[in-house]
Amino acid sequence: AQPKGTPDIDASALTIEKTTAPKPLLDAKDLIFGRTFTDHMLSVEWTAQDGWLPPRITPYQNLSLDPATCVLHYAFTCFEGMKAYKDADDRIRLFRPDRNMHRLNRSSARIALPTFNHDTFIDLISKFVNLEERFIPKQKGYSLYLRPTMIGTQKTLGVGPPGSALLYLIASPVGPYYPTGFKAVTLEATEYAVRAWPGGVGDRKLGANYAPCIVPQIDAAKRGFQQNLWLFGEEGYVTEVGTMNMFVAWVNEEGVKELITAPLDGTILEGVTRESVLALARERLVPEGWQVSEKKFTMAQMKKAADEGRLLEAFGAGTAAVVSPIKGVSWRNQDIKIPLSPGKETGPLAEKFWNWISEIQYGETSHPWSYVV
Ligand code: PMP
Repeated sequence: AQPKGTPDIDASALTIEKTTAPKPLLDAKDLIFGRTFTDHMLSVEWTAQDGWLPPRITPYQNLSLDPATCVLHYAFTCFEGMKAYKDADDRIRLFRPDRNMHRLNRSSARIALPTFNHDTFIDLISKFVNLEERFIPKQKGYSLYLRPTMIGTQKTLGVGPPGSALLYLIASPVGPYYPTGFKAVTLEATEYAVRAWPGGVGDRKLGANYAPCIVPQIDAAKRGFQQNLWLFGEEGYVTEVGTMNMFVAWVNEEGVKELITAPLDGTILEGVTRESVLALARERLVPEGWQVSEKKFTMAQMKKAADEGRLLEAFGAGTAAVVSPIKGVSWRNQDIKIPLSPGKETGPLAEKFWNWISEIQYGETSHPWSYVV
């Protein structure tokens, strides 16, 4: 008989089918982001009629989709990016998983896919990462990248709300982003394309937001820049860098040391790292006289600060790298140079945030953001 569904996901109904062909583990040094996956996957099917069907952990396997499945035509897909870390005592930890679940629900709701209880799915993720424990390298800097994904699975070319969906989780072991220490990057400000706009969906993690970002990135790379910087509007507002949130530290026009990032006005992804940097900055930098701002700022202001010697530092913030120090931006054929610490490939703030956040992720300091599974 067909298993019955429930209005929300029922973690207690989980069934586990273990693989009979465990994969060999790659040498830690051979890990490439997102290329190899663990033995299993977690899947939860949903139908408009029956709700959520019992969650299943099965061997990692292909999906079988009818060519008319709505995700393939109208991009009914959203996802998350988060990591599981192994601490010195071999415990597995997630970093603020509630934030990722909140964002996934907001993404799925925007494209007419179902939502679910955060704690229930975190519980399932915990069971999954415990099962895949051997894929999480123990060394600091290594982690298991987790990719929760939701897709619309209804077979129809009709443009409408999907009558069925699949929420699934796959996982890929990853090595350190900076195997030989920080590497500061140079950016090219993209002028001809915009990533997101008011009233759009740039604040949701929809698959449809990512494919159009590749060509501007290739263009920047052709001219020797590691990443592109996304601007908005005639004013040239600084929004995000590649797939990271953008932070700038300067002495502002009022003469105050300020750490600034774009506000959550609907055009900015609500980065978990962004939120964490802001919270730590408010806790630890404000007492040292820093001002911390979520406020619009422009390329012209950055250029002026650089020209006047007020530009202190810039970095991207995201799950992959924690922070990515920036040493220069090319904008309208002008090169804006951004200072680094003497003899280093990072500025002092980026290094601080990297240390503070990594310590929490690897459980080296006890903090409510670190979730032991
Ligand atoms: N902006 C964009 C466009 C992203 O794709 C990401 C990665 N999720 C981020 C910012 C950083 O978000 P987080 O800190 O949650 O990884």
